[in-house]
Amino acid sequence: MSDKQKTIKNPVSVKGSGLHTGQNGTLTFRPAPGNHGIKFKRVDLEGQPVIEANIDHVISTERGTTIGANGARVFTIEHVLAALTGLGIDNVLIDLDMEEIPIQDGSAKYFVEALQKAGTHEQEAEKDYIIIREPISLEIPEKKIRILLEPAEQFSACVVINFETRVLGEQVARLQRMEDFPEEIAPCRTFVFLHELEFLLNNDLIKGGDLNNAIVFINRRVSQKELDRLAELFDKPKVKVKPEGVLNNLDLYFENEPARHKLLDVIGDLALLGRPIKGHLTAYRPGHHINTEFAKIIKKQLND
Ligand SMILES: [Zn+2]
Repeated sequence: MSDKQKTIKNPVSVKGSGLHTGQNGTLTFRPAPGNHGIKFKRVDLEGQPVIEANIDHVISTERGTTIGANGARVFTIEHVLAALTGLGIDNVLIDLDMEEIPIQDGSAKYFVEALQKAGTHEQEAEKDYIIIREPISLEIPEKKIRILLEPAEQFSACVVINFETRVLGEQVARLQRMEDFPEEIAPCRTFVFLHELEFLLNNDLIKGGDLNNAIVFINRRVSQKELDRLAELFDKPKVKVKPEGVLNNLDLYFENEPARHKLLDVIGDLALLGRPIKGHLTAYRPGHHINTEFAKIIKKQLND
């Protein structure tokens, strides 16, 4: 694999709505010069403020990672950043005419496809890898959460999830090399438990516009009335719970799709370091909070 930085050949757009804000809009990837990094430009705001994808700009990790700078914010950046990292794209300017990245089907697939369509090209500047020389780890024992980066020739990852429920116990996902990301990880969609979905809907925290593709785990008995309400929400005549505890509004692409999605999220969150990583990542029960705290530790160690 080449060690030159990459950008895209042509601008390319993705349209859609945000999961949390329900706003509809367009995201446009634009080529950017060497050492530019990944930046978002809020073209809907006066002065079109630019927000760099930088770990110092994280302002929230509730239900997604949000960054803010120069008086503007961008919600749910992790899937689009994962797509760029997965394709080895270093430099791009992302025009966005709303506050949130379109959720699409809750995966990184549509961003990967758009970027592949745009094509990539190598630039003069060399890639500036983060090389892990000593293991770096972060642990929250009371939550049984742990994340670790160890020295390795190239990036690889192993993610373990365990929600300690009957329908979603321990699951493992692995990525041997980043070249496998587009096929193995990018299509893997986000997931919710029924009780979380109800909480989000009841508190107006998701607008449901693009919920059709969410994987819903049902970890308790549900009444026919609740199923009817879900059918209405998903715009289906009827829904039921499959034996494995997943709502039948969709079929899983992989038996361990949830673990693969968490691997996608970690890659997206660590992209806020702004440089590709050479190291082996192990994450046990990761989430946006630990992922971004871990990125801050890595950054601090690099600066010390
Ligand atoms: Zn995610």
